Amino acid sequence: MDKIKMTTPLVEMDGDEMTRILWKMIKDELLLPFIDLKTEYYDLGLEYRDETGDQVTIDSALAAKKYGVAVKCATITPNAARMEEYNLKEMYKSPNGTIRAILDGTVFRAPIVVKGIEPTVKTWKKPITIARHAYGDVYKATDMKVPGAGKAELVFTAEDGTETRELIHEFDGPGILQGMHNLESSIESFAKSCFNYALETGQDLWFATKDTISKKYDHTFKDIFQEIFDAEYKEKFDEAGIEYFYTLIDDAVARVIRSDGGYIWACKNYDGDVMSDMVATAFGSLAMMTSVLVAPDGTTEYEAAHGTVQRHYYKHLKGEETSTNSVATIFAWSGALRKRGKLDNIPELVDFADKLEKATIATIEGGTMTKDLALITTLENVHAVNSEDFIKAIRAELEKELSK
Ligand code: NAP
Ligand code: MG
Repeated sequence: MDKIKMTTPLVEMDGDEMTRILWKMIKDELLLPFIDLKTEYYDLGLEYRDETGDQVTIDSALAAKKYGVAVKCATITPNAARMEEYNLKEMYKSPNGTIRAILDGTVFRAPIVVKGIEPTVKTWKKPITIARHAYGDVYKATDMKVPGAGKAELVFTAEDGTETRELIHEFDGPGILQGMHNLESSIESFAKSCFNYALETGQDLWFATKDTISKKYDHTFKDIFQEIFDAEYKEKFDEAGIEYFYTLIDDAVARVIRSDGGYIWACKNYDGDVMSDMVATAFGSLAMMTSVLVAPDGTTEYEAAHGTVQRHYYKHLKGEETSTNSVATIFAWSGALRKRGKLDNIPELVDFADKLEKATIATIEGGTMTKDLALITTLENVHAVNSEDFIKAIRAELEKELSK
């Protein structure tokens, strides 16, 4: 069989620890034998980030903007322990944060649904995609401990010096305070990314905030979504036969639990942080969750939702066998290849991506899986395998698919 040719390079962002090991195995076993893989490679492994003073992360994000599609391996976000472990010059920011700040996008996370890994919520039949706004609110807040009695106010000083004041509270004893913000421009691009993603995937879009209580802050989110929807998307949604639906966050939670899935749930930053872990866990496993960052200009970056699986990596370093689930990382590659194939009009690449996903699911449904899934599956006669044998089993399925 001739290898599939590519025209535009994918931006490849390599990463750390166990996922870096899986990354290479996936390329060697599942991609390079079948595709003339064209990538522009950026090493976001912590050593090289340190060597370049984190410039490589910035360069990789700029390359993603230039070419439009990137695939990213999980990376370490340094903390005090990592400073020592890697002898770092600086406690670099999270690469995901840096990339998001440059691309200004929304993160969509969806579970990979397979037979034998059943959702905890019995009514869920189709995946639920969480769209998380990735800017501001409590993640960029300033907070303060109030030592004792006194008055707290919100003060906005305009460029011309005019002040607007709003009383927060007259304290008669100690307490706490927090000030947070968001930007209309960021909320607008969040809304557009969500509407575009709904159209692209043909799914309804739900959005929820607490606008009845947060009458200016959350209400602004609600209004911006509605204005953009009415002005730019209503007709397109009608044509696609999909719906945009706004409700209160507590009502949304209740509806999600009763639903059968198959929609996108847009969440403010904090809600998305919390709800994506709830949805992932209830669908079975963080290792079965895809994650894609979609920027308002259409740039797309695919990754796994989990981290670098440090505990498994240390076992691997000691020469012990690991059974790390590579599904989310494989789907990051298939997602990126499919997108590249669609943009460049290479149907064979799109077809390959579909078959790679099919082969991965067929492997698990056939009873061959990593230990994390073997522990929770409802299938019988399960064959729990190590990291490498799992990828080899997928290759065998893939070869069957490709020869059909
Ligand atoms: P993690 O890598 O997601 O792993 C946490 C635990 O979840 C693992 O120890 C493992 O449980 C299980 N797990 C996660 N992915 C798995 C997989 N593919 N297969 C099997 N089991 C899996 O989170 P962490 O250990 O808290 O973080 C490690 C590093 O990842 C940190 O340095 C953090 O900064 C980074 N991180 C990166 C990203 C990203 O780049 N997107 C996201 C999150 C975290 P058992 O040990 O019980 O088997
Ligand atoms: Mg979280």
